[in-house]
Amino acid sequence: MVPIRTCIGCRSQTEQDSAVRFVLDGDQLVLDAERRMPGRGAWLHPSSECFETALKRRAFNRAFRRPVSVAQLAFEDIEHMTKHRGKRVGKR
Ligand SMILES: [Zn+2]
Repeated sequence: MVPIRTCIGCRSQTEQDSAVRFVLDGDQLVLDAERRMPGRGAWLHPSSECFETALKRRAFNRAFRRPVSVAQLAFEDIEHMTKHRGKRVGKR
């Protein structure tokens, strides 16, 4: 059975396979492509809509319970990673 996560953008529940995971490296937000990095994670649909919503709501700060630097993260990175994984996931 696939674990269920909550997207921090649209706040809807989703299967883990349909979301990308972020973790903190210091105070920098990084993509956890393999979903194996230790520590608290934040889950997001690989959709620009959810990403923008998460940024607007400062949902990353809330997910990690501290200020998070997201400036270096672009949606293209997420898109690239999900394409690299070889399948389309999430909402369109
Ligand atoms: Zn979402």
